[in-house]
Amino acid sequence: MGSLQINLTKSPKEKPARVAGFGTVFTDHLFVMDYTKAQGWHNGRIEPYDNINMDPAACCLHYGQGIFEGLKAYKTKEGKIQLFRARDNFERLNRSAEKLCIPQVDVEFMLEALEKLLEIEKDWVPTEQGTSLYIRPFIIATEPFLGVRPAEEYKLFIVLSPVGAYYPEGLKPVSIMVEKNYVRAVRGGLGEAKTMANYAASLLAQEEAKQKGFTQVLWLDGVERKYIEEVGTMNIFFKIKGEVITPPLTGTILPGITRDSVLKVLKKWQVPVKEYRISIEEVVDAYKKGWLEEVFGTGTAAVISPVGKLVYADVEMDIGDYTENSIARKLYDYLTGIQYGIVEDEFCWVKILD
Ligand SMILES: *Cc1c(COP(=O)(O)O)cnc(C)c1O
Repeated sequence: MGSLQINLTKSPKEKPARVAGFGTVFTDHLFVMDYTKAQGWHNGRIEPYDNINMDPAACCLHYGQGIFEGLKAYKTKEGKIQLFRARDNFERLNRSAEKLCIPQVDVEFMLEALEKLLEIEKDWVPTEQGTSLYIRPFIIATEPFLGVRPAEEYKLFIVLSPVGAYYPEGLKPVSIMVEKNYVRAVRGGLGEAKTMANYAASLLAQEEAKQKGFTQVLWLDGVERKYIEEVGTMNIFFKIKGEVITPPLTGTILPGITRDSVLKVLKKWQVPVKEYRISIEEVVDAYKKGWLEEVFGTGTAAVISPVGKLVYADVEMDIGDYTENSIARKLYDYLTGIQYGIVEDEFCWVKILD
């Protein structure tokens, strides 16, 4: 893929005085790289952040051939910038690429490119507690062609966005509705790929749930509408009678890196964990017996999102109060502790940039 060209902006933007919210402010530069059939991935470069100039017939605009990733850079108290499991994100990008017939990228080169971009944008990594710099790599099919087949031209971008603390007032339980009418993915489909289509498929259900006062929906499997899948931006965990349960990776849910981290940490803590196809009836039954102790989502944005209320048809489940002793809170403190360099990184998940 060769060397990395760098073209710095002559008009840097004003940085926000206080970083709040998600995904509306972008830094001065982005990384971009081209793919053609003849040259493969080439011309990786860092450029001033700007609009994309694209043919209106570009495939991604018509048939959704596009994939993305989401990770964060964190600033430690000492002012160092840290990445959390970034290699796993680029490896997952390649797995999504395979599903969408998009050419593979060189993970080593991508990590180098990201680190170079972060070095240039280091002053954009916010310092207030809980804030971070969100990193959004993505690939789109750019070939101008209206036939349906994998494109022969692509662009890969990395854009950066300073984001506020997810919990400015401390870990806050959310209320979630179990989705009965719509489905997100089916086996053999795109559910395990981080692709635009999965989000398009989730919007209507999400909107209807919002109107009813819920934060998100919990998806059930697309065939029997019985087994728990995920939340759509987060994977899901249940603690029932001391045991932690999460749905297995059977192709319909996104293999979250936070999910994987949680499984590894729980094993280290010798908390009993199980990956199996848990049904919604089993959750309701456990609740009725007083065994449902905790429910929490996992994902890069929130890290851990405790569920205070879970509603399935006319069953309203009020779940734990997530005290200091809850697994959800302990996981949140431990994982964010590693990310911000407060807790020892026993798993070697962090890369400190110099
Ligand atoms: C990104 C994503 C997640 C969370 O994955 P992390 O790697 O933990 O951030 C969960 N579900 C879906 C559908 C996603 O796109």
